[in-house]
Amino acid sequence: MFALTLNDLREEIGECELCSLCKSRTRLVFGDGNDEASLLFVGEAPGRAEDAQGLPFVGPAGKLLDTLLDGIGLKRSDVYITNVVKCRPPGNRDPYPEEIEACNPFLRSQLSIIKPKIVCALGRIAASALLGKNVQMTRMHGQKFPMPGFFLVPVYHPAAALRNPATVKVIEEDFGLLRMYLNEDEEPPPGESQTEPEQMGLF
Ligand code: SF4
Repeated sequence: MFALTLNDLREEIGECELCSLCKSRTRLVFGDGNDEASLLFVGEAPGRAEDAQGLPFVGPAGKLLDTLLDGIGLKRSDVYITNVVKCRPPGNRDPYPEEIEACNPFLRSQLSIIKPKIVCALGRIAASALLGKNVQMTRMHGQKFPMPGFFLVPVYHPAAALRNPATVKVIEEDFGLLRMYLNEDEEPPPGESQTEPEQMGLF
């Protein structure tokens, strides 16, 4: 995949049928936001509202994400938002490892084109897919992990905060850390932005 721009990449993906999620989707949800963003969010998969509108994080979890961004002085137009898989799994189940692996080249290309400084993984599935190992959110949330081309920061998925209001405070604190990491002068390790699809069997 050699797309130079997000528009090229979206054209290349077309109406992708590389995995079985093509059968359950209404719309493929590619991603949305600033194509030169320093901060890129990766969720797990589109949900019902996203599938209907073709845009990421437009449901209740998306509203909370907007509030969290506002709390650190950012707007949606400042960041880029996408998901590990671009099509909604039936009944909002977790995506299977083979689906994540099939979709991984698209995420990897988005990272290569946008070149964010910080990639914030929203939730365990996204964090595990990006880090290439099973992530324990209780231990790893809010930390900054150097990856080739970017820093990875896992935070709890906003949907978790909707289920358990006590989690909101934890996510707010982690967003404060995101702001601090963005302001730091430290550059990410050199290298092409990569993810680790071959290790998807770990979770
Ligand atoms: S989830 Fe990804 S690989 Fe699977 S059909 Fe959708 S775009 Fe293609």
